[in-house]
Amino acid sequence: MPLHAADALILRTYKLGEADRIVVFLTADRGKRRGVAKGARRPRSPFSGGLEPMTRGRVAYFERERRELVRLRYVEPLCSPLAAGSVEALAHVGYFAELIDEWAPEADPNEKLFRLGAAVVESLAAGVQVERLARYFEFWLLRLQGVYPPISACGRCGGDLSGGARLVGTGALACARCDPAHEGGALSAAAMAFLLAARTMAPEGLRDVELLSTADRELARAHQRLISSHLEKELKSVRVVRSLTRDSSGD
Ligand SMILES: [Zn+2]
Repeated sequence: MPLHAADALILRTYKLGEADRIVVFLTADRGKRRGVAKGARRPRSPFSGGLEPMTRGRVAYFERERRELVRLRYVEPLCSPLAAGSVEALAHVGYFAELIDEWAPEADPNEKLFRLGAAVVESLAAGVQVERLARYFEFWLLRLQGVYPPISACGRCGGDLSGGARLVGTGALACARCDPAHEGGALSAAAMAFLLAARTMAPEGLRDVELLSTADRELARAHQRLISSHLEKELKSVRVVRSLTRDSSGD
């Protein structure tokens, strides 16, 4: 049984038997894996502190021939989302992990997706505002999957969209002239400015990028439409994030 060591993001875990856990994790080099962490629910296991969703760490595991489940030997956490400390941040962490889990097929290497997740959790732990990171993460995840419509030009006439756009269906951003009946979901100039900035920067840079709460809501709505139409379902964690966001904004 060869031992592999890899950089990985923990996505989720569930209980197995009396003391073990199944761990779903995304490796940088071999895509998503699923493995047994023996004794993970005992105190002082080689996994303690390393199994929160979106923990970035060094993972060692044994591949077993003709078996889908690998056997984890240890998880050494390098960056934990718990460092962010806020309830909102932790609720989003579950959301980020669920999105990656839904979108990463088993054992299909996707280094860009790994790097996106790792950079976002590092920025979160370093105190970058979670709403900015959430909209950034959705934007890039959808871009990497090839489902984000082009943002710099109207999908119908090619005109400029920096003054605002509308998401028509789930396939195109159009200018106001091309969506006269206002059927699409609106994205204001502020929302478009955020996307244009997000397109060219690493997530740490979001500290200095303004995201008005109206623009945040517009982007969240548009992104949920794109996500649910492509996954053909709504994610469980979205509801958790929503209920918390409502509580904290008071509306
Ligand atoms: Zn147009």
